[in-house]
Amino acid sequence: MPASTTRAETRSVCCYCGVGCGIVIDHDAGRIVGVRGDPDHPANFGRLCTKGSTLYLTAVRETRALYPELRTTRDGARKRVAWDLALDHAAARFARTIREHGPDSVALYVSGQLLTEDYYVFNKLARGLIGTNNVDSNSRLCMSSAVAGYKQTLGADAPPACYADIDQTGCLLIAGSNTAYAHPVVFRRIEDAKAANPDLKIIVVDPRRTDTAAMADLHLPILPGTDLVLFNAMLHVLLWEGLTDTRFIREHCDGFEAVREAVREITPALASQVCGVPADDIVLAARWFGAAQASLSMWCQGLNQSIHGTHNTAALVHLHLATGHIGRPGAGRSRSPASPTRWAGARSAAWPICCRRIAIRPIPTIAPQWPACGASTICRRRRARPRSNCSRRSAAVKSRRCGLRAPTRPSRCRNSP
Ligand code: SF4
Repeated sequence: MPASTTRAETRSVCCYCGVGCGIVIDHDAGRIVGVRGDPDHPANFGRLCTKGSTLYLTAVRETRALYPELRTTRDGARKRVAWDLALDHAAARFARTIREHGPDSVALYVSGQLLTEDYYVFNKLARGLIGTNNVDSNSRLCMSSAVAGYKQTLGADAPPACYADIDQTGCLLIAGSNTAYAHPVVFRRIEDAKAANPDLKIIVVDPRRTDTAAMADLHLPILPGTDLVLFNAMLHVLLWEGLTDTRFIREHCDGFEAVREAVREITPALASQVCGVPADDIVLAARWFGAAQASLSMWCQGLNQSIHGTHNTAALVHLHLATGHIGRPGAGRSRSPASPTRWAGARSAAWPICCRRIAIRPIPTIAPQWPACGASTICRRRRARPRSNCSRRSAAVKSRRCGLRAPTRPSRCRNSP
């Protein structure tokens, strides 16, 4: 049987999750007949998960909207119309509304599943032609607290680290994400990085023992909602053990003293009581994060969809700013969104998609987040219990030097309850 002469392939992006895998769509006479991973795409290098590889099954002709339908009255039935008529009608209604009520009388709400180029065009239409900022997508809503956290700490909701950083990092902190299920192709990449570099330390912060947690070197199964206390305790340890990058802080951060003061009492012992994980594990996590040549964090909705998701985000960014693990190969923070082009959808199309390295603003503000969260109430109540029992004199000297309470362990503390 002769091969079809109408058969062709088109490169695109899987629309399911935030990994954004490149795909090659095989089609024949207008019908999609298959989908495979794009071997040249830097997100997946040909790999696809089950969802992506069965994508073509969802794009059957019978279930697709193939033509426009229009109704002229609210309660009337929709009727099939020609494309020209539908487009003219929509444009005329838009133009009349803008003419009569101004550009902010209209809004565009688009999908997180659109491609970056689509977002670019929609943003041009809204901001450049119509003159309104009323363009948004579902993908911003799902990570709005993350946006606020980034703006509080970095001064901008800037682009994140990239997948290539996974191959170069020495410590990977995954928080609030079951990457194995939610972003499977990235998880494969993490497994590859671990196989290539057995010294890579993987820390997973998740109340559940997920498949992602099962492969971690250190799993911190914190009580739900206590992320902020954990991160602040890790910062406490970083400060106590001198694992911060004082030069980076001096040159790039503003307000660090306020952060130091905010975490002064948040010892691992205290955090252990709040988070329900051993203080030793908190210390170990901080040491791995601080001592690595480059540390990377990845997180998902488990972190930022919280009543204090903004503070969770900020506290995690504080770890990166305090250690200088940001803006260089293998170091940085990256949220794992649910939509393939969340970055493009959630902000102006003016952001270049290739903006891999963040030029840290000269003076990003590190603002103390601790007092603003509900968990602080718990910790204030429990404050002042832990006291050092080991080498008190040297601890006192060190305490004066770094301005913190010693990160004691409750089990070895004479003053512990
Ligand atoms: S990992 Fe995500 S983007 Fe990649 S194929 Fe699977 S669903 Fe699609």
